[in-house]
Amino acid sequence: MAELVIRGGLVYVPGGPVAADVLVRDGVVAEVAGGASAPDAEVVDATGLWVLPGAIDAHVHSRDPGFPEKEDFGSLTAAAAAGGVTTVLDMPNTLPAVENAAVFAEKIELASSRAVVDFGLWGLLGARSSTEDLEGLVAAGVVGFKAFLGYPVRRSNRQVVYTLDLGDPDLEAPPDYGSLARLGPDVARLRVPLAVHAEDPGVLREFARPLASYADLLAARPAIAEAIAIAALGVISQRTGLHVHVVHLSSGLGLSSAREANRAGARLTLETAPQYLWLSDEDHGRLGAVMKMYPPIRTAADRAALQEAARTGEIQVVATDHAPHTDAEKLVPSLEAAAAGSPGVQTLYLSCLELGRRQGDVAGAVRWVTEGPALTLGLYPRKGALQAGADADLVLVDPGARTLLRPEAMLSRQRHGALDGQLFGFAVRAVYSRGELVARDGRVVAEAGRGRPVTVKRT
Ligand SMILES: [Zn+2]
Repeated sequence: MAELVIRGGLVYVPGGPVAADVLVRDGVVAEVAGGASAPDAEVVDATGLWVLPGAIDAHVHSRDPGFPEKEDFGSLTAAAAAGGVTTVLDMPNTLPAVENAAVFAEKIELASSRAVVDFGLWGLLGARSSTEDLEGLVAAGVVGFKAFLGYPVRRSNRQVVYTLDLGDPDLEAPPDYGSLARLGPDVARLRVPLAVHAEDPGVLREFARPLASYADLLAARPAIAEAIAIAALGVISQRTGLHVHVVHLSSGLGLSSAREANRAGARLTLETAPQYLWLSDEDHGRLGAVMKMYPPIRTAADRAALQEAARTGEIQVVATDHAPHTDAEKLVPSLEAAAAGSPGVQTLYLSCLELGRRQGDVAGAVRWVTEGPALTLGLYPRKGALQAGADADLVLVDPGARTLLRPEAMLSRQRHGALDGQLFGFAVRAVYSRGELVARDGRVVAEAGRGRPVTVKRT
């Protein structure tokens, strides 16, 4: 099959950047070396460019199936491809929720028909999940399970609902510490991670208030809700051996809680998102409800704590929590009325590279979105590293160019996000997925339906 040589770039191999050529054969990296070549290979000149491993966005919401007005696998993965994200891992709160192998199989088929880049699927762990459901999902190939602490499922249509009010009899009890303690040993035995939205619903209920200002949002979803949930998850992890993957870590207090738990023997891995590393409550005046999300973007001190933990590797994964909504749901003046969540997949790589540059460690920032998620979630070494034997998911980045995040350039169905207007000191020039050019200068050049499900190794 076709061979390809990426010539003359600065190549980010696991040990750090080296001047080398990359030889690709049959969609796989065959060799990384000076002078690597093959007689009939197509040659791409990468002089002056960086050659990076494709990014993995471990936390996206495709909205597909169920909410095509917000997003679908086509628009999601087009945005991903344009930004150098060559693998997305989709959360299970699509419609119906991915809570058994039959729903999983249908979603794989749907995603395979629309995806531009490769993808994996998370399964839902609910209070009523059975051991058979969990085993079936793992056998079918889930990345792991996701538990939305405190968020119930609607019995009539199997939709995960974002409400703290459980009065409606159509709502099934949400997962709580009891169900996680009961199901934890099953998940641990199956050797997959349990990703958790870690905000304690009891705290949220106690502090709930009308959202007249951004200060109200911070008061309604205080950091202590995150810290308490993480402490409880830490105990469950210690007692059951469960690998808990804490998603969208947002606070210094939550970070301290995770650190204590891990010191005591828990197995917690940590994920934060670019918006928590970039922004603080001070940005609300400029951005308005576009930056409303759960958990909220907090103070400059929280941001500094998260940046430091990402720099040291205590936070292993940076993923976007890409969560698009329609303009009608999102672009409203009222913080109370606006939906929570922001798109972000298209600027994951650029935002991390820019943060890495400011921290003086670009290679470390590359790991947040490649090796970090691949090792944490069982995709390594096929994904997450630029080395012989890995899928040829490659991103050519121009370190001398700049990209201003303009909503018009976004390919997601929701173009406005929390990082609107940010300037990144890089540009994504070309993106290859398994050796095939899928995007060039922000435009998708590959067919939808070429993306494939990833293979997951038990962790
Ligand atoms: Zn999410």
